[in-house]
Amino acid sequence: MMNNTDKSFITRSKRASIDRETAKGRTGMVASAHHLATDIGEKILESGGNAVDAAVAIQFALNVVEPMMTGIGGSGFMMVHHRDSNETKIFDGHTRAPNAAHPRMFLDDNGEVIPFKKRSTHGTAVGIPGILKAMDAALSAYGTKPLAELIEPSIELAEKGVEINWVFKDALEHFHYRLGKHAKNFYLPDGKNRKEGEKLMKKELAHTFRVLQDKGIAAFYEGEIGEAIITALKESGGFMELDDLKNYQITIDEPMWGEYKGYKIASSSPPSAGGLMVIQILKLLESFQLEQYDSRSWEKYYLLAEAMRIGFSDKVTYFGDPEFVDMPVKGLIDDRYIEERKKLINFERRNDAIDFGNPWKYDKPGNHHYVSQPDDIEKSETTHFTVTDQWGNIVACTSTVEHPFGSGIMVPGYGFVLNNELTDFDTEPGGLNEVEPGKRPVSCKSPTIIFKDGLPFLTLGSPGGPTIIGSVFQTIINVIDFNMDLKEAIEEPRIMVTNGPLIEWEKGISMESKGTLESMGFEFADDPHVIGNVQAIQFDQKTGTLYGVADSSREGKATGLN
Ligand code: GLU
Repeated sequence: MMNNTDKSFITRSKRASIDRETAKGRTGMVASAHHLATDIGEKILESGGNAVDAAVAIQFALNVVEPMMTGIGGSGFMMVHHRDSNETKIFDGHTRAPNAAHPRMFLDDNGEVIPFKKRSTHGTAVGIPGILKAMDAALSAYGTKPLAELIEPSIELAEKGVEINWVFKDALEHFHYRLGKHAKNFYLPDGKNRKEGEKLMKKELAHTFRVLQDKGIAAFYEGEIGEAIITALKESGGFMELDDLKNYQITIDEPMWGEYKGYKIASSSPPSAGGLMVIQILKLLESFQLEQYDSRSWEKYYLLAEAMRIGFSDKVTYFGDPEFVDMPVKGLIDDRYIEERKKLINFERRNDAIDFGNPWKYDKPGNHHYVSQPDDIEKSETTHFTVTDQWGNIVACTSTVEHPFGSGIMVPGYGFVLNNELTDFDTEPGGLNEVEPGKRPVSCKSPTIIFKDGLPFLTLGSPGGPTIIGSVFQTIINVIDFNMDLKEAIEEPRIMVTNGPLIEWEKGISMESKGTLESMGFEFADDPHVIGNVQAIQFDQKTGTLYGVADSSREGKATGLN
């Protein structure tokens, strides 16, 4: 087996299954990164459930079929658009640090950064899981079916067993080193990788789901599942207590709203940087009229790269949990600030002067807190799914255990892994995103819904840590500026750059354009790799047709109802 720390573990060509179709529907649409989860969502809609019901059922199903990406041991942002009330809300079930967490917890006794592999698989990396509470709250607010009914299909799936697909096999191949003792015993009992097509039964997970069915989510936050979590964490050096679980609260937030070319964008709000960054990058690009260039021209890649570099230099400087720190939320997307930042785009060379700006000028008075962080963080890859129903409700949810298999700590007897989401906090203390008890780390999750003339036009999201932002805004410009159909827009090769020197790229970008950019001082990663995994639904309000697409970078599926 390999034992490396590749930036991306999805090794197959993204375009291998590009011919998988765009789903069409009129009365509902489901898109997720696994066909069995999509099928379960579809069944819930068929049985009269709404989008929130279906989303909850899908989240449980993904715990069975994509356990390395998401599950009840993790967290997520669930965006709900409720058609009748025209409300769009974010059920923020993002993780929080336990009470004993502290700013120096990722440093050793000498003040040195603990290497990533070690700090990300240690009990202290595990944040309080929030997804169950977020789902429960969304269900109380907008759902129509009881939680127990929505869990049932996933119990059947877990008991029957799930065939291992190439995505899961690749994840095991690359990340088996993250698995703790219990997870290793379960996933790799004889030390050899599993085969594609092999069936994996999940009796312990089915048992956990039954407990949740019988006792509700209290079994997790204050009952037997919670106790088992704390015991497992204590064995792995963690310091979470049952009180941390008991006291955990989600928030129900207004989305971050922005405008792009007459479209209204609703995306995640802080503590996710995702929504604000997607909006800021789009606003930086808005006046350049991207559509005048070929979609694979150097001019397009150049503009995208510089806009991302400008955006991410602000991201690392100005973001933290808004319950704890002040952020220039308004300033970051103020038109005057955007005008000022756009001047960094020169069309001649990679601009070495790109650094964080001063959005406070266009906000209330404030300060910046940039603290340099180690560059050893591996790329996270989780999951995004989306549903719409016959009443026009929409759910867009990105949920996660952070890195593949999370912390690798599996709760004995309960069959699910715990996240390592606290590694999204700064490792070096002193900045806005330093670890503090009860605080939420800065996320990049960007579940997004775009409206045109007050009606839904597009919903999308992606996993992939910072690359979430890149995947989401590039899909949006492919649809809006380049007029691509949804499938093309998602399959179009993406590029990604943060505030570091390298442009990551997907197979298929123009080599000529890459050469031009290199001559302008840009650096490209040696090899292409998959960036993100977008699930999306487009709404044709004129004809009433829904288009759904699951990205071919995994074995996802979109299904329409008629
Ligand atoms: N670290 C990610 C975040 O921004 C987790 C989600 C993902 O990588 O897909 O919240």
